[in-house]
Amino acid sequence: MQNALGLDALQTIDPGALVSVPRFSALCENKTARRLRDRFAPTKDRSGVATLSEICEIVFGRRDHYELGQQQEALAWLDLISGTQDNTGGGRHDGDTFTPLRAHLFHQTVSGIWACADPACTHKPGTELDHADWPFGRVYLEPRKHCACGAPCTRRRSATTADTYT
Ligand SMILES: [Zn+2]
Repeated sequence: MQNALGLDALQTIDPGALVSVPRFSALCENKTARRLRDRFAPTKDRSGVATLSEICEIVFGRRDHYELGQQQEALAWLDLISGTQDNTGGGRHDGDTFTPLRAHLFHQTVSGIWACADPACTHKPGTELDHADWPFGRVYLEPRKHCACGAPCTRRRSATTADTYT
């Protein structure tokens, strides 16, 4: 099945609403959304915990690394699938969530940012980080010991993104 609607189009369906039957239906018909939902369903051989890289792989295909913008888009997908419910609750509750995600998943996957320690990082030019106010190199949303340029990475701060998912 092809993706009928992309992320941008899906986000414009009942924007901001948790309960949206049209968006829920569109997600059901969306190949990426269904693959993400399947990934978070625990199986006999695999837990329902996914890393951000695994999410990126579902959205963008397998790569050696993913750009910050791609990581942010992958997180936007998670916002969408965990923030969409149908109306089967009959007024007593909100119905079924397309993909219920629990906060602990995100504490493991998005708990800070890691920045290349080299201000002259060769993987920074041409990105938004290539700016006089940014004293580090490339940024990663997952723990890394080394940047793609070879310099060490250090954790810069905690992200509060996980709060969104509680
Ligand atoms: Zn670097």
